[in-house]
Amino acid sequence: MAKALEHITQPDISLYINGEFVGSEAGQTFENYNPYTNEKINAIAEGRKDDINKAVAAAREAFDHGPWRTMKLTERMAYIYRIADLIDEEVEKIAYLESLDTGLPIKQTRAMVSRASENFRFYARMVESRLIGEAYQVDEHFINYTINVPAGVAGLITPWNAPFMLETWKVAPALATGNTVVLKPAEFSPLSANLLAEVIDKAGLPKGVFNVVHGYGETAGDALVKHPDVQLISFTGETTTGSTIIKNSADTLKACSMELGGKSPILVFDDADFDRALDATVWGIFSFNGERCTANSRLFIQEGMKDRFIAALKERVANVRIGDPLDDTTEVGPLIHKEHYDKVVSYLQIAQDEGAEVLTREIPEEFKKGNFVAPTMIVNVENSMRIAQEEIFGPVLSVMTFRDEAEAIKLANDIDYGLAGYVWTNDIKRGHRVAQQIEAGMLWVNAQNVRDLRTPFGGSKASGIGREGGHYGFEFYTEKKIIHVSIADHPIQQFGKQ
Ligand code: NAD
Repeated sequence: MAKALEHITQPDISLYINGEFVGSEAGQTFENYNPYTNEKINAIAEGRKDDINKAVAAAREAFDHGPWRTMKLTERMAYIYRIADLIDEEVEKIAYLESLDTGLPIKQTRAMVSRASENFRFYARMVESRLIGEAYQVDEHFINYTINVPAGVAGLITPWNAPFMLETWKVAPALATGNTVVLKPAEFSPLSANLLAEVIDKAGLPKGVFNVVHGYGETAGDALVKHPDVQLISFTGETTTGSTIIKNSADTLKACSMELGGKSPILVFDDADFDRALDATVWGIFSFNGERCTANSRLFIQEGMKDRFIAALKERVANVRIGDPLDDTTEVGPLIHKEHYDKVVSYLQIAQDEGAEVLTREIPEEFKKGNFVAPTMIVNVENSMRIAQEEIFGPVLSVMTFRDEAEAIKLANDIDYGLAGYVWTNDIKRGHRVAQQIEAGMLWVNAQNVRDLRTPFGGSKASGIGREGGHYGFEFYTEKKIIHVSIADHPIQQFGKQ
């Protein structure tokens, strides 16, 4: 049901440290805005270095002396399954808060939130079945085996584009493998992170195991990255931020997992299933308001079908429904924040300055208070233009063409990013061949972005370092230890023996 332009407020939000909801040490707050109206929703406790120190101390204590990492596996996993069940009970509320906070359409946030509880269940199952060691027998002298131990205090830093889903994507494996956690959610989307703290509090985890410090990246995030008692940083966000974090974590030698930006190609060959490729192209760029790391923001169409495809695309894009994010029929909502809106709009000007043609539409008067950018396609684009090379992170599709397979691959790879790629062709051999040659971490052939949680998630080139997902995440969230056991009297050199 549409909520029109009514003013919606929410209770103010605290930090969650050592099992308690508390204000920030210095008492500061920051304001949180509704992207649909640009009115204030609530005030958020603003954590800074002192609050991070407090949260890390709680997490450290819980790791070193608490029962979390030493309790029976079945007991720890019971907590993880309970978190999943509690999330399921709150799906409607979390989806509502997420849409209110981010402008993402409620139909999409509902789907994301269901995936969030699955993140916990999935990681509980993975730990039970796949957190395994190896054993090596060395002749008759040794048996050497590996075990996995939790790394320590995990610092998790997340973005605003799919907040709850991405937070749980990190929190679930970090906790399930026995680490304790300090989460620093994005400052633009604090509501659902607070609800996660409430859910975890209700699940009754031991004090200090899970902590949330809201605040800005340059203060709270930075203090977490530099804290000597934090063993690892799992970060999802912009490539430039990732690079800053790696530099800042160097002095304390942290392991960093980096899930960064993208500018992913979709290649549509002449022999592709036209209708399905069209559906996937439109959904892939305009779902999540185009604020999607794996969005197919660069479309390459083979010349034989370009006129027909572009004509059909124009019609579809013109009809994508923008509106109130709390309305079930809305397909594209307002962008997260005025600041981000300005960035996305600036690219429409850049496109014109570069000589491309911007196909967009007026935002209806009733939506002008919000951060709306109409679903937009840009034609007459060259791959070297900024609009084809830089991540716009909004509902903007750059359309280009190619002659043959070799040119398609060359154009797709001629970019700094390497997160995802999509290939549409009914030639099975070509599908595999092209997918294998695109420089990206994740490829789909004849499909939109459909995830299998067991598979590795992550990007190459400027899109990331490392892989999360499935058992791949265990490499990051646990330390592998090798234990060498002598099972016979193997020779030992006898230095100094007379
Ligand atoms: P961002 O880099 O601005 O912020 C992400 C987080 O980092 C926020 O919590 C922010 O407060 C924090 N941060 C900022 N500066 C920091 C610093 N110096 N030290 C520590 N923390 C700091 O990103 P964003 O605008 O919130 O998110 C959008 C970006 O995220 C896009 O580039 C998108 O592609 C990327 N993303 C990537 C993936 C992926 O899996 N590869 C998934 C979703 C989003």
